[in-house]
Amino acid sequence: MNKIYQYDYIIIGAGIIGLTLAKELISKYPQRTIAILEKEEDVAKHASGLNSGVLHAGFYYTSDSLKARFCVQGNQLMKSFCKENNIPVNQCGKVVVAANDEELKGLYELEKRGKKMVLMLS
Ligand SMILES: Cc1cc2nc3c(=O)[nH]c(=O)nc-3n(C[C@H](O)[C@H](O)[C@H](O)COP(=O)(O)OP(=O)(O)OC[C@H]3O[C@@H](n4cnc5c(N)ncnc54)[C@H](O)[C@@H]3O)c2cc1C
Repeated sequence: MNKIYQYDYIIIGAGIIGLTLAKELISKYPQRTIAILEKEEDVAKHASGLNSGVLHAGFYYTSDSLKARFCVQGNQLMKSFCKENNIPVNQCGKVVVAANDEELKGLYELEKRGKKMVLMLS
């Protein structure tokens, strides 16, 4: 007869989202059990292990959106996580340029969003 396993939580997928969810659940409910089901032989075999590793600033989203807020918060949380775990972060900043007058309008909009982000952080 097959053995039956029981868990409080089952997470499908061991990418950054699944693993972060597991980490949060463990720290909130250390007594509960979690199973992570992954179809590959290791974690982060897809997008999470193959991405460019950029901590996005969030100004490509409209500044009042949840995406912008989460991006800014996530950026800070990830930097703290890296610091606590001695993971180097190259804080090189970002340069956004306009190649013509038309693009300049977009650049002013990004500047506006960036300034709102700074207010959000303060
Ligand atoms: C080329 C590229 C560059 C990127 N660059 C950046 C960047 O610079 N900065 C940034 O913030 N984001 C970047 N991203 C986005 C970022 O990588 C993803 O948003 C993030 O990794 C998604 O994580 P995830 O856990 O949702 O998905 P995934 O990492 O894809 O994890 C999903 C997991 O679920 C597993 N799975 C799927 N189906 C099943 C199943 N039926 N049963 C069991 N397991 C299953 C998969 O095997 C996989 O391990 C980039 C993405 C790509 C593709």
